[in-house]
Amino acid sequence: MKTLSDFKKENGDTDWKAYKEYEINTGERCFECDAFIGRGQGFRRMCYSCIHKEDKDEWDDDTRIRCPKCKNTEDVFDGDSYDLLSEDTHSVTCNECGYKFDITTSISYIFKSPELLGEEKK
Ligand SMILES: [Zn+2]
Ligand SMILES: [Zn+2]
Repeated sequence: MKTLSDFKKENGDTDWKAYKEYEINTGERCFECDAFIGRGQGFRRMCYSCIHKEDKDEWDDDTRIRCPKCKNTEDVFDGDSYDLLSEDTHSVTCNECGYKFDITTSISYIFKSPELLGEEKK
């Protein structure tokens, strides 16, 4: 069992990234959403709310849609449902049970700009 002091870098700072990875790999944190779970079990695991995500009333996800009837989830990018990718309300038929339902697509953009130029490169 490692502690935070095992993740000190040479300059004395804590390597938070490595520490978080360690927490996820030991199961202290959920590998799906990073939520803290508790004592590590030595393997990767998901938190309660991720395990039971299919059972929640509301569902929003960046890749999957869920049938409200049979809880089947489908990957929007996996298959030929490209029309779902426009920002709108779309009618979907569940592949599993044939139930028809509407989903709403909302798109968010992230604009990544180049890194700062170093002093000498100005
Ligand atoms: Zn989780
Ligand atoms: Zn269904």
